[in-house]
Amino acid sequence: MVTKKEIVEKRKSLAQLASKSGTFFKGDKRVRTPRLCVVCGRPLSSLILHENKYIVIQTHTRYYLNDMFKLDVCADINSCYRTLTKKGEMENVDG
Ligand SMILES: [Zn+2]
Repeated sequence: MVTKKEIVEKRKSLAQLASKSGTFFKGDKRVRTPRLCVVCGRPLSSLILHENKYIVIQTHTRYYLNDMFKLDVCADINSCYRTLTKKGEMENVDG
């Protein structure tokens, strides 16, 4: 189980670790792989079968930790809250 505070902290530490970041908006087709939010596990991109391409289905921030390592996180923290609540993985306490 995680708390709201832990989610906030996790997102903050990712932002601090990253050397740069970029935002990918819903509908963007510059993605070539499935992407998941590292905080809540929500799918951020989806395969368009007949085009054999991926499309962004959830606006997210991509953090570049170095040349090799990238992490994706929902742009909206409420998306993480909602997803984790739905999965029953979030403690329903404030603070
Ligand atoms: Zn998320």
